Amino acid sequence: MALEFTVTERADRASDDARAKILADPGFGNYFTDHMVRIAWDAASGWHDAAVSAYEPFQLDPAAAVLHYAQEIFEGMKAYRHADGSVWTFRPEANAARFARSATRLALPVLPEADFIESLKQLTSIDKSWVPEAADGGEASLYLRPFMFASEAFLGVRPAKSVTFSVIASPAGAYFGGGGVKPVNLWISTDYARAGEGGTGNAKCGGNYASSLAGQLEGIAAGCDQAVFLDSSTHTYIEELGGMNLFLVYRDGRIVTPELTGTILEGVTRSSILELAKELGLSPEERRIPIQEWKDAAAAGELAEVFACGTAAVVTPVGELRWEGGSCDHRREGHTDEVATRIRGTLLDIQYGRAEDTHGWLTRL
Ligand code: PMP
Repeated sequence: MALEFTVTERADRASDDARAKILADPGFGNYFTDHMVRIAWDAASGWHDAAVSAYEPFQLDPAAAVLHYAQEIFEGMKAYRHADGSVWTFRPEANAARFARSATRLALPVLPEADFIESLKQLTSIDKSWVPEAADGGEASLYLRPFMFASEAFLGVRPAKSVTFSVIASPAGAYFGGGGVKPVNLWISTDYARAGEGGTGNAKCGGNYASSLAGQLEGIAAGCDQAVFLDSSTHTYIEELGGMNLFLVYRDGRIVTPELTGTILEGVTRSSILELAKELGLSPEERRIPIQEWKDAAAAGELAEVFACGTAAVVTPVGELRWEGGSCDHRREGHTDEVATRIRGTLLDIQYGRAEDTHGWLTRL
């Protein structure tokens, strides 16, 4: 049976002025809306006490299992305001399904899809004034962050018997600001892996992000923006970035992304691009891609573009690829990032209701 939410509106909502000031330049992940969702779970009674109430800190026992054993998962999605004022989200069933897979992998309880989607509707409807107007083809949105963690106060390695699910929301500006889409330079991390076979690479759990940070820092020290992680057993095949999937675009129209081996997160943007590519006259392929193939194809001029993709930045062109002792750049003079730009535009037009949603990807919040 679907959960019933109790709603307690906060008395001290942000003033219209304060909110307008934030929405004028929210950046990403800096500000949070007035309310949050909470749903409790315990082994004896299952999911209960679904509530929308004021955004506030959790009261967490210092022995809460999440603080010691990282039993935690999360999702990332966006609410988009259309020109008529209505608010929509993109493929929430895919996020709900991924959240359920992550829960199973982390030995957390599964929240039914209907309750997951209802929690987004509840929060977005009470905090609707926080969903930015996407004026003039802009890309502002309300980022939604569902998450679940082991809240039981117990020191011992076993699945927690009490768990908290929550959703918070954070207004997000256009990822690249006003100056157009900015390419990222990538560092090949060989000392560090993000995920190993049989591990949690295809789950969206906090630990994966903690383990990506050292590689990320190595990349930044080498003057790059992000690290590209290789498979941990052979250091041969491309996997993904710390928070985005990768696509290589060949001059002959092939558009290739690493296949899902269990160590890569199955991005909703990635799956959508695989579907859209065919409609855009491209030939999508999912397979293992040796990092050497990227270097060779770039050197031979066969690679037209490389881009990264994910909910936050949609599609981001890759500039240079660097590694210990070398680098390559597939971007030649007059490079336009044509495919990345087209795919980015196609996705944004669907998300913001500027193009017909022929795939049935949008859900009204
Ligand atoms: N890989 C990782 C590791 C990520 O964290 C994300 C962001 N969720 C992605 C890929 C892209 O996934 P999505 O398109 O669903 O945002």
